[in-house]
Amino acid sequence: MADPLLSVQNLEISFLSGGEEIPVVRDLSFELAAGQTLGIVGESGCGKSVTALSLLGLVPNPPGRITGGRIVLEGEDLVRADEDRLTAIRGNDISMVFQEPMTSLNPVYTVGEQIAETARAHFRTSRVEAWDRAIEMLRLVGIPSPEERAHAYPHQLSGGMRQRVMIAIALVCEPRILIADEPTTALDVTVQAQIFGLFRELQNKIGAAIILITHDIGVVAQMADRVMVMYAGRKIEEGPVGAFIRDPRHPYTSGLISCIPQLSATPEDDPEALFEIPGVVPGPRELGAPGCAFAPRCHRAMTRCATQPPLDRRDDGRQVACWLEREAVA
Ligand code: SF4
Repeated sequence: MADPLLSVQNLEISFLSGGEEIPVVRDLSFELAAGQTLGIVGESGCGKSVTALSLLGLVPNPPGRITGGRIVLEGEDLVRADEDRLTAIRGNDISMVFQEPMTSLNPVYTVGEQIAETARAHFRTSRVEAWDRAIEMLRLVGIPSPEERAHAYPHQLSGGMRQRVMIAIALVCEPRILIADEPTTALDVTVQAQIFGLFRELQNKIGAAIILITHDIGVVAQMADRVMVMYAGRKIEEGPVGAFIRDPRHPYTSGLISCIPQLSATPEDDPEALFEIPGVVPGPRELGAPGCAFAPRCHRAMTRCATQPPLDRRDDGRQVACWLEREAVA
């Protein structure tokens, strides 16, 4: 990829626990081009959300901190940026839609005020212009009667409405990178489609790049250009979305896809036959052992998987960390 907008290089994030610093994200590298949508998928606890927070300098410190690597936004390493610079980047360059709107919205201001304030800080417009912009954004995210709803406080809106307000706040400054962490989990399918339509508009209008964090491969198949799969704090597979869905190479990725009736080869009228990945993602403290972190859950594990960490194989714009790939070319 020529001149990526964002380049994450060998990122490591650790959390202090019981007097020890435990890595929760290890040796993570990826790139993002302008206008591209990167889907980051994996089960809860695989490191997706903390990776997203790190891009905004929002890893809660203490107990967490970035312990290695670089996050380069157009030549500037954000890991070394001070708080003032990170505050300027948040909203102006990188915005985030969080999973839980009630904890992200300020309960003592109306939603119109919160959107307008964000617009004012960014565009330096008058209060009247910022208020008009807030109403325009509420309309854009599909909130009915936006002139009235702009005067509502967060607790007076439904969960779905609050999520749309969060998206309005994230988009009002026309960021170059929008990070959306499970942005539509609480929304029905129709609203979900509207929100994704909005994201596409943003991309067409200003060439914004999107990082879409989700456990839902169906959403990724619909929205993303590239997909990165994380497991136990590491990237285990990355590639273009079409190839990823058609020909998943890592057993964990195959398992995730097999869980989705619309994407798996399983007949839709036989949901019982859908694959389920046994077990759970290991916690960070359980990752000290050498070998592949997925081995205890992998139906294709070999003897060496338990003792030797799999090396990456890269070809055709794809990257896979699994011994099976090495065997395939041996
Ligand atoms: Fe399974 Fe081994 Fe590949 Fe890990 S390296 S995913 S255990 S086959």
